[in-house]
Amino acid sequence: MAKQVYFFGNGKAEGKGGMKALLGGKGAALAEMTHAGIEVPPGFTITTDVCRAFYEKRRKAPRGLDAEMRIHLKKLEKAVGKRLGAPEDPLLVSVRSGASVSMPGMMDTILNLGLNDLSVAGLSMKTGNERFSYDCYRRFIMMFADVVMGVDKKEFDGLLKERKRDRGIESDLDLDHDDMKWLANRFQFHYRERVGSAFPQDPMKQLSLARDAVFSSWNTPRAAEYRRLNRISDDLGTACTIQAMVFGNLGENSGTGVGFTRDPATGEKKFYGEFLLKAQGEDVVAGVRTPEPIAALEKKLPKSFRKLKLITTRLEKYYRDMQDFEFTIQEGRLYMLQTRTGKRTGRAAVRTAVEMVAEKLITQEAAVARVLPEQIDQLLHPVFDTEKRREFKTVAKGLNASPGAAAGKAVFTPGRAVELAEQGERVVLVRAETSPDDIAGMAAARGVLTSTGGATSHAAVVGRQMGKPSVVGCSQIRVEEEQGRFRAGKHVISEGDYISIDGTTGEVMLGDVPVEDSEIVQVVQGRLSSRKSEIYPYFEKFMKWVDRYRTLRVRANADTPKDAILAAAMGAQGIGLCRTEHMFFDPDRLPLMQKMILAETDEDREAALEELLPLQREDFRGLFEALAGKPVTIRTLDPPLHEFLPPRADLMVEIEKCRSAGGLDDVIREKEKLLERVEDLHEVNPMLGLRGCRLGINLPEITRMQARAIFEAALDAGKAVPEIMIPLISDVAELANQKKVVNEVAKEVFARRKKKIKYLVGTMIEIPRAALTAGVIAKEAEFFSFGTNDLTQTTFGISRDDAGKFLPLYVSEKILPGDPFVAIDRTGVGRLLRIAVEEGRATRAGMKIGICGEHGGEPSSVEFCHGLGLDYVSCSPYRLPIARLAAAQAAIADGSGKKPARKKRRKR
Ligand code: ADP
Ligand code: MG
Ligand code: MG
Repeated sequence: MAKQVYFFGNGKAEGKGGMKALLGGKGAALAEMTHAGIEVPPGFTITTDVCRAFYEKRRKAPRGLDAEMRIHLKKLEKAVGKRLGAPEDPLLVSVRSGASVSMPGMMDTILNLGLNDLSVAGLSMKTGNERFSYDCYRRFIMMFADVVMGVDKKEFDGLLKERKRDRGIESDLDLDHDDMKWLANRFQFHYRERVGSAFPQDPMKQLSLARDAVFSSWNTPRAAEYRRLNRISDDLGTACTIQAMVFGNLGENSGTGVGFTRDPATGEKKFYGEFLLKAQGEDVVAGVRTPEPIAALEKKLPKSFRKLKLITTRLEKYYRDMQDFEFTIQEGRLYMLQTRTGKRTGRAAVRTAVEMVAEKLITQEAAVARVLPEQIDQLLHPVFDTEKRREFKTVAKGLNASPGAAAGKAVFTPGRAVELAEQGERVVLVRAETSPDDIAGMAAARGVLTSTGGATSHAAVVGRQMGKPSVVGCSQIRVEEEQGRFRAGKHVISEGDYISIDGTTGEVMLGDVPVEDSEIVQVVQGRLSSRKSEIYPYFEKFMKWVDRYRTLRVRANADTPKDAILAAAMGAQGIGLCRTEHMFFDPDRLPLMQKMILAETDEDREAALEELLPLQREDFRGLFEALAGKPVTIRTLDPPLHEFLPPRADLMVEIEKCRSAGGLDDVIREKEKLLERVEDLHEVNPMLGLRGCRLGINLPEITRMQARAIFEAALDAGKAVPEIMIPLISDVAELANQKKVVNEVAKEVFARRKKKIKYLVGTMIEIPRAALTAGVIAKEAEFFSFGTNDLTQTTFGISRDDAGKFLPLYVSEKILPGDPFVAIDRTGVGRLLRIAVEEGRATRAGMKIGICGEHGGEPSSVEFCHGLGLDYVSCSPYRLPIARLAAAQAAIADGSGKKPARKKRRKR
């Protein structure tokens, strides 16, 4: 096997910052900081290759690893001038996990390794501080038991709490050397009781067990869940870093902390972080004690503070991105223990990207490439309604760890959060402190509220990354998890009671506060002045850059003029899909539609359609006007007709009720007629039945009415580019049939109005046969639009409405790589798209082709469409910014989006 271990220390490192895949983010950054002359405790990193080999060998260390580790341990001992396990003055190390992508707190780390009953006494002698050495020891026993032996840390915490209670002490800081000694003993006793053997005294044995446990922590349920949520491959593995300990718990001038070079919640350029004096790192990141804001460090240890600021500013410049760092101060001396790209909210992502361009730290292209589409999505999430929130009582205020509005039923365990969310409930997860184990519950909840833990705790970091509104460290509430309730002043909130939390202000409110559109939506709709919005100016600038890079166009799916206006404001370059049937579901139109369906004669039907015509015309006109000359694709009637009629069972009940109440014969007869028609229309497989173009072929008067409404509206609107789309064809003849109807109507309308406009007639490709015969279909079709919802259903033979029963299992068992209704299945459905694009354009050069399924707003599908050479993707108006960004990133990634800088263009 290749080199398995990389050393760093004394200003030199075998690894480099670019070796993240091999050394993990942590190992690579420690090496890089060492190179840069930043003070980092020395150590060595075992590679991720070793972790993979470890799993291949059924969790056994690969050959040669122990020997290589011993060599590096010698080097480390030499660098520090201490020996692991030496009884008089022992070297202590941490054993740290760290993968190539950061997974905050999801894996395990052990501190103070190397202590045993002898060396703990040596450490006391050497430091003259017995309280300190036994504090280290009891922490080590607890972490070792938890991580290596699977004895829950909480059991030890319980013992600690007991001791404090017995001694009448509030804070850990008041425990004296006797308490610490007592605890170290008690912990060993508990260890033996639970593990069945004595706490291992041999430091080498401690080390190899700890290392294997760190590798194993790659596969804890929470780590696996985190990877699933963030689509991180299970095969990456973690590295393991063994590093000399430095001590933040040594005395008054010692401490530890975590910080960010900018505010990870808002993006504001300010030094942001938290610290604790007389503590070890775990205390801050695990959220056990609520730490102090970093500004206070300036007063307490000014020299260390200034140095920290200097170093981290340098790190940000070097990495050209916001850094999240960990540090420890040992008796006034500052050590850096970690630096990585800081996780941030969508708001912070956009703001930092824009500001870093202004600071000339990064290019516009880098800014566009850096912000994730999901982060843009976060910006579009609703906020609390400013007016209505005043009617609700604010009962507490905590740290505003992750902005946004969340309202829902309070729940007190992650399990309940998942359960209720699955039943479609909105929930807010309330915990004393969240731990990384809560990840599934956090994902299921709308927001998170905790009573302890700081804004840099792992839970807060993960919450921000998920875009979960979070209020943490809210000391004004008391959470009683066991009883399933929390108290805020005189209020008691139990499971199921509604609460609302505002992650932007840190406020906790009683009740279900209504939400309204995000700031961005309010601004684009003209309801909020852009100057009043903090984030909008950043968003606007950023999206301008985005549009400069992308080549793929974006359209919106919009059924009403109202949607179309929003779509245009959100950057739509056209309407890619107007589902005309949505206009008929309106309560005052439905009766007309039903009249049309129930008509017994052609004349009756024509009469009903005649009544629908002006309504459709008005809607279409609204669409055309909203888009002001940009193309509008209108699909002719698509759903099975029974969708417009009441369900059969309901009708039967109604008739019975009517009869027993002695209702009028006329009324009953009407209802019976309706029931008869409903039964007529009943289909075994309605989604494969009389719908799509089959409707228009059966009842051409419907197509005729719709075409007439479209053309008249287009003429009325003046500037209009209608694209009429025939759904669900499988053969070219179906399209030819409907196209003929449309063209006849066009001719008739244009002649009558003595005015012409350009229009296209095309088709949806949503049945495999249509994709496979696209070359022939293109003879008739003037454009294609992929209806990937139906195409996915028909390609897989999976009904989307029934997939809930088995698809989740398929995904969790990895039978399918993901839900094909979410991200396009490139292998199968994608192949059909490719065939249709190639053969369609072979027949009709340069034919306009787009996609209008829900995939059009999903980033990886957008990337795929870009690669296919489609003209546009169409999605819901709210997803337009996401689609725009995903398209720009796809163009940047394959080099097609690089536009010459403006200056050069002018020169030419
Ligand atoms: P995580 O990924 O969970 O943050 P880390 O390996 O970073 O795990 O360690 C957890 C905490 O312990 C951090 O606060 C870190 O700074 C601290 N820590 C790790 N190694 C050392 C060390 N050698 N000396 C002092 N503190 C350490
Ligand atoms: Mg860390
Ligand atoms: Mg369809």
